[in-house]
Amino acid sequence: MLGPAGSFRLPNFLMPPLMNNHGNYIVSLGNVCRWLAAKAEALGVEIYPGFAAASLVYNEAGAVTGVITGDMGVEKDGTHGPAYAPGMALMGKYVLIGEGARGSLAKQLIAKYKLSEAANPANTASASRSSGRSSRRTTNQAWSSIPSAGRST
Ligand SMILES: Cc1cc2nc3c(=O)[nH]c(=O)nc-3n(C[C@H](O)[C@H](O)[C@H](O)COP(=O)(O)OP(=O)(O)OC[C@H]3O[C@@H](n4cnc5c(N)ncnc54)[C@H](O)[C@@H]3O)c2cc1C
Repeated sequence: MLGPAGSFRLPNFLMPPLMNNHGNYIVSLGNVCRWLAAKAEALGVEIYPGFAAASLVYNEAGAVTGVITGDMGVEKDGTHGPAYAPGMALMGKYVLIGEGARGSLAKQLIAKYKLSEAANPANTASASRSSGRSSRRTTNQAWSSIPSAGRST
């Protein structure tokens, strides 16, 4: 329907205004995270802010059983400073990796277990492409141009 022959506008009832947030709450995401953290800790969750998971722990069968946090107190030249503390091993019955797009551990897991085979590439660049405009637009602009993405947060 869209092409050299022309185009047409969708009726408004099919296409509500973008970014229409009237009547919705506006919140600080940082405060929401702090509030959620308190709720999670009250349920017994241990949270280690500031500690990046630096490497994965596998068992003999090749399954992921934990992560090791990065060493702290390492000097710029790589030597151990006075505050040096080696990373901690955090083990779990289930290990969920939630690093977002392009996570460093996720990248290793995707390669090791061949998770990207027969799968679409998972990155926000697809948002730029689906906008049908120049790929030089910023990701934010691309999100704004996608109706469902703009309203979902
Ligand atoms: C510019 C931009 C605009 C967007 N706009 C929208 C929108 O309008 N609507 C919408 O629905 N979606 C939007 N998205 C997509 C949305 O933000 C993501 O899909 C969503 O945040 C992914 O959630 P996640 O929990 O998987 O990862 P993230 O939210 O990325 O969280 C991953 C977290 O893990 C941490 N982390 C990473 N590696 C490690 C590690 N090794 N150890 C410890 N911590 C680690 C990161 O610091 C981060 O805090 C947008 C994305 C971008 C980039």
